[in-house]
Amino acid sequence: MPLRFFNTYSRQLEDFEPRDTGRKIAIYTCGPTVYSRAHIGNFRAYIFEDLLQRHLELRGYKVRRVMNITDVDDKTIRGAREAGIPLTESTAQFKEAFFEDIETLRIKRADEFPAATDQRYIDKMIEMIATLISRGLAYQAEDKSVYFRINKFPNYGKLAHFDLTQLQSTGRVKHDEYDKEHIGDFALWKAWDEEDGDVGWESPWGRGRPGWHIECSAMATALLGDQIDIHCGGIDNIFPHHEAEIAQTEGVTGKKFVRYWLHCAHLLVDGQKMSKSLGNFYTLPNLLEKGYTGREIRYALMRVHYRAPLNFTWEGMNEARESLARIDEWLTRLRETAAKRTGKEKNKTQPGQQFEQALDDDLNISAALGFLFESIRETNRAMDENELDAATATEWLNWWERVNSVLALEPVQESVSVIISTSGVEGKAAVGSGRVIIEEAIPPDVARLAEARAQARLAKDWRKSDELRDELSARGWEARDTKDGQKVTRRAGG
Ligand code: AMP
Ligand code: ZN
Repeated sequence: MPLRFFNTYSRQLEDFEPRDTGRKIAIYTCGPTVYSRAHIGNFRAYIFEDLLQRHLELRGYKVRRVMNITDVDDKTIRGAREAGIPLTESTAQFKEAFFEDIETLRIKRADEFPAATDQRYIDKMIEMIATLISRGLAYQAEDKSVYFRINKFPNYGKLAHFDLTQLQSTGRVKHDEYDKEHIGDFALWKAWDEEDGDVGWESPWGRGRPGWHIECSAMATALLGDQIDIHCGGIDNIFPHHEAEIAQTEGVTGKKFVRYWLHCAHLLVDGQKMSKSLGNFYTLPNLLEKGYTGREIRYALMRVHYRAPLNFTWEGMNEARESLARIDEWLTRLRETAAKRTGKEKNKTQPGQQFEQALDDDLNISAALGFLFESIRETNRAMDENELDAATATEWLNWWERVNSVLALEPVQESVSVIISTSGVEGKAAVGSGRVIIEEAIPPDVARLAEARAQARLAKDWRKSDELRDELSARGWEARDTKDGQKVTRRAGG
């Protein structure tokens, strides 16, 4: 089955056919508005996009992804004003927090993170607005702001499946933005007013600032070209943001802007969208403080299909923790089995293609995870019966590498420098050869082998000690015996 996605534009599952047959793909993802720390609802969207990118890469595509940073709009300006600090200072702290959070959640960094206030993009926005005016698609109103004329763009409403006549028939013609020709016309350039303080740029229409929608059109086309393969965001972005992006971009280029529009459903709390304005949100630090790890949060936000709403609950967090513990335990057992080089194989279990095939089907993560846990059950049963041989265990470990290139759930000890005392007494420096000194984050199975080796040395079982050193070495780790105890380090190039 070919790769296919549900395209919001057609409201249908469509086979994925990128523009470039050389398998290069351009993806644009709407990024954070940096007026506060992002909440985990926002991260549901970014984790879905991460899953998409990683799966495309597993399937051999070369992805170039851009994620913008909205660092000027009504909310950022209000935030800075309320804090009594310059806009750039206010947004800088939230940008930094955002990069910290995506790292904790193992979200791949985009190739570019353009900021809307970068003069290069402001110039591009002004250029696009000027073109739209010259084509009759935009006008400057009495309030000096520039608006997009939606009646002149026949495709307006196609993404949201929105009927313009309905908009006119709502009777909401009396609105406070009296300068606009049509209630649906949206701002491309907002004329400066007092509330903007020292935020503003010169333009052919006077001092002002860009509207949020034109920011994305300009940054997307500046970095990815006039046409891109995939554009993503949460469903709340469909209208008006993405509808406006299409109108502005296609109004300028005359070409189809985006091939596939992918939108994720919301993270909910008690049936309502998690959002800043409702106050029902958690940030990543809120959850880390409660003892959850970035990896657990990643799993909890990823495990449900992106088009299905996901309810945030503590029960769900604990289920994520349990699921990961099962994966960890399974990996440790597989590694031990692979190292044993014994065991008879009966009814050979074999990794298949089901995991990636499930993801080919519009990123069906629940089916993919279902297959992972079914495989875990099956191989655990075989290991219980001593019926999984080392070669098969290695095959499963290799399969896990592929799976994990998409899931990014590899267990890694979070600590950087730990000393494990095999005497059971932590911190007693003089345990001699019984101590294991680990100087960087290491996987738990390596820690266990090192500990077993320290124990063998305490028992003066030199043969076992050497065997365990070989096993560590086969995994790319070097055990050295120093006067402070056993030192385990990753071999250069290992
Ligand atoms: P914002 O910073 O509000 O522009 O949102 C950044 C991204 O997060 C957008 O793609 C939104 O659609 C998405 N988003 C916001 N709230 C949620 C939520 N509760 N669940 C999923 N995605 C969300
Ligand atoms: Zn956007």
